[in-house]
Amino acid sequence: MTKTITVFRGDGIGPEITDAVLDILKAANAPLDFEIFDVGAAVYEKTGSFIPQEGFDSFEKNKVLLKSPITTPIGSGFKSLNVTLRQKYDLWANIRPALSNPALPTRFENVDLVTFRENTEDLYIGEEIEIDADTVHAIKKITRKASERIIKEAFEYALKNGRHKVTCIHKANILKKSDGMFLRIFEEIAKSYPQIEADSMIVDAACMNLVMHPERFDVLVMPNLYGDILSDLTSGLIGGLGLLPSCNRGDSYAMYEAVHGSAPDIAGQNLANPSALLLSACMMLDDLHEEESASKIRNALDQVFQEGKVLTKDLGGQASTSEFVAEIKSRL
Ligand code: NAD
Repeated sequence: MTKTITVFRGDGIGPEITDAVLDILKAANAPLDFEIFDVGAAVYEKTGSFIPQEGFDSFEKNKVLLKSPITTPIGSGFKSLNVTLRQKYDLWANIRPALSNPALPTRFENVDLVTFRENTEDLYIGEEIEIDADTVHAIKKITRKASERIIKEAFEYALKNGRHKVTCIHKANILKKSDGMFLRIFEEIAKSYPQIEADSMIVDAACMNLVMHPERFDVLVMPNLYGDILSDLTSGLIGGLGLLPSCNRGDSYAMYEAVHGSAPDIAGQNLANPSALLLSACMMLDDLHEEESASKIRNALDQVFQEGKVLTKDLGGQASTSEFVAEIKSRL
């Protein structure tokens, strides 16, 4: 049955990669209808809002959103629309699978990690208090409810997907109360999953170990900030930001997006690699029980990688976005 999904085209490279992905989904005959909305800074200048009300209404009706990156001003200006969407729709689990593709040359082979990032609290609640002109406090919020649900989700994923280990990443040596509670909850929940190995690592040691021995990790679970940083690191292990997909989901809604940002340095130049958003769309198809369409697209992408002749610049090739898309479509 055809499913209608909401699409936000984003800004920077967002519109280019969205159009590329929709083109491929249509060529693969994925059973999807699209309600497409422009969002971001350009829309704000025209309408006074970053996301049109019709865009929110569409997501609330369809419950599934394919979202391109949106630019967030650094150091001042409005709150991130990405964080706003995650909090407004309680998209509490951010799942980011990093899987090596043997056809792409990287420092490591056989990386296969899945990051579970808590997505609604930690420093991302955005509460910064000016104590005086030279002092700012930022609030790090950790709750039992949010910690329990993301940690359980990581163990359930491990169980259902034949994974052997879940590692909790934290800084409980310094943040004894907040990260300390996250770690304690992890240790409590781990007892209910005796068949899954459970261990923990301080975030700084985890950074070193991930770039030395990524094969020692399997499923990782962590509070929001460490998840944001470490998942970009895991993208570097598999060949860069252009390859890492993600799903943000809660009890009622799911949003699929590339992990990377709007890449203003290459926007509008037909250079962006659409693979991360395409693989996010494949995660979405899997969750919609359209695994056949998802594997058809993944196979076509794999063939293009294996051939290695038509690759975007970030993957060491010379092809434009449109040439890369045409090559994928020709393999469908
Ligand atoms: P970025 O991820 O946009 O770019 C980092 C580097 O990676 C750049 O050199 C860029 O050219 C390259 N890159 C990223 N995606 C690529 C792709 N698909 N193909 C080829 N190269 C790619 O990070 P940034 O420059 O720090 O952030 C730019 C903006 O994006 C900021 O406003 C940031 O807040 C926002 N952002 C949004 C999201 C989101 O919408 N979920 C996520 C991260 C950052």
